[in-house]
Amino acid sequence: MINRTLRQTDPELARILAAELERQKTTLMLIPSENYASRAVMAATGSIFTNKYAEGYPGRRYYNGCEYYDQLEQLAIDRAKRLFGADHVNVQLHTGSQANMAAYWALLKPGDKILAMSVAQGGHLTHGDKVNFSGQLYETHFYGLDPETDRLNYDMVAEQAREVRPRLIIAGASAYPRIIDFQRMREIADEVGAYLMADIAHIVGLVAAEVHPDPVPYCEVVTSTTHKTLRGPRGALIMCKEKWATAIDRAVFPGVQAGPLMQIIAAKAVAFKEAQEFGFREYQRQIVRNAQALANSLLEEGFTLVTGGTDNHLMLVDLRNKGITGRLAADLMEMAGMVVNKNLIPNDPLPPTETSGIRPGTPGLTTRGMKEAEMHQIGKWIARVIHEGHDGQGNPNEKVLAQVRQQVRELCEMFPIYEDLEA
Ligand SMILES: *Cc1c(COP(=O)(O)O)cnc(C)c1O
Repeated sequence: MINRTLRQTDPELARILAAELERQKTTLMLIPSENYASRAVMAATGSIFTNKYAEGYPGRRYYNGCEYYDQLEQLAIDRAKRLFGADHVNVQLHTGSQANMAAYWALLKPGDKILAMSVAQGGHLTHGDKVNFSGQLYETHFYGLDPETDRLNYDMVAEQAREVRPRLIIAGASAYPRIIDFQRMREIADEVGAYLMADIAHIVGLVAAEVHPDPVPYCEVVTSTTHKTLRGPRGALIMCKEKWATAIDRAVFPGVQAGPLMQIIAAKAVAFKEAQEFGFREYQRQIVRNAQALANSLLEEGFTLVTGGTDNHLMLVDLRNKGITGRLAADLMEMAGMVVNKNLIPNDPLPPTETSGIRPGTPGLTTRGMKEAEMHQIGKWIARVIHEGHDGQGNPNEKVLAQVRQQVRELCEMFPIYEDLEA
């Protein structure tokens, strides 16, 4: 929040903040892992709770003066338990990556085998990629998608599990547009005697609103972020069965973290409350309806979607038939005020810095109140940018991009966000 104090203390930063506020107000947020936090979430994030050390857990702190920190953390824990129906919740994780690190720390020993979805097929770096700690500390094996359907093929996963004999199977992805069958993954894990962890960083809001099947009954451990579809502060949480409660808590602190970010935990408590309110379920349903409307609009324009559509909040657009890379498409779209990220498609011939795809999603647009009609329109603008927004040699067509930019700006004005924030 840009206030007079910040302008007086640090005008240089205040200018950057004002510019970013303007960017958020006047551009379309199409990155499926982003969202607009509520004023209440931001109020907690920017509160005096930032001033305190509270290592340990409620009632068992290593610092004095934690009375109100015990209350706020317990509030966050109780709300998350109720929201997800989990036996035990740890709300101290700074990020989704640290949640995964702590989960592995609790469940595994270095060198143990993990079976997870590869990054190239839609998984996450922390699921055992070689450039990440997870790929260096553990022996990771990857399952991919069915080459015929680009969907999870559970028989293929089962076959691989029998071969690899992993200690841990991870279900979850960053770029998979379809439902994940956690019950089937549990059966596979049971057959080979593996633990099952779900990483629902992306779909957590859908899960909380029962718009996507719930992994909690089927998994030893479930990790998630709080800043994506859940619409809370940047951060994460871990849920687990009672049996794993102590191991998880120890893995988080003192295992991989020291002092918790109490102002963020306060904001998580707010977000969990907001997620229990009536409107949240409707919000999550609308995210999915909007994703389907955007997908249909793109299909009408001759785009290829991986798996042909979406069941959740995102879609993967395969741009190969359009003669443009994901990188150029995302850069042109940004010039037109539509902020999306480039993304690998399954078996992408291009490297992650170029890619053949983009990964549009609808959580942010839906927070602004946009519905199917706006998604249809946005699909047409994306098509115009990709068809006419460049000369085929990588050079932008400034005129076309400026026209779309203006139309995007007008749509943003009709669906304002942070209107009352001081700039
Ligand atoms: C976003 C994401 C994470 C990591 O979250 P960070 O907070 O960026 O560390 C972990 N797993 C999956 C599947 C994700 O999509």
